[in-house]
Amino acid sequence: MIEDERPQVEDMFEGIPRNKIPWYPIIDYDKCISCGKCVEYCAFGVYEFEEKNGKKKSVVKNPYNCTPVFCRGCEEICPVGAITHPSEEETQKIINRLKEEKA
Ligand code: SF4
Ligand code: SF4
Repeated sequence: MIEDERPQVEDMFEGIPRNKIPWYPIIDYDKCISCGKCVEYCAFGVYEFEEKNGKKKSVVKNPYNCTPVFCRGCEEICPVGAITHPSEEETQKIINRLKEEKA
């Protein structure tokens, strides 16, 4: 059996279930050139290549694997600036609200 060598993905972030925090990359397909660098780069398996009609396309397959929250690594390596993330300020507000609800 081949072991999954990816780093462990955290289920929680600061006491909040990770899947309640809307932080993940978004691909602008008008810009994306399907180079695959994001798929290779992200160690957490957020991206996968999908093949449709003989064409390969990078997709955000596991958005909540995007760890740590506020990572922007792939955004920086995309050669055409096709990757963005939500606003840090807005995401932090959501995290704060979720923490308050929990308290
Ligand atoms: S690195 Fe950028 S251009 Fe390359 S596949 Fe990913 S999103 Fe598309
Ligand atoms: S921001 Fe970081 S963890 Fe998230 S998809 Fe990009 S490289 Fe992976």
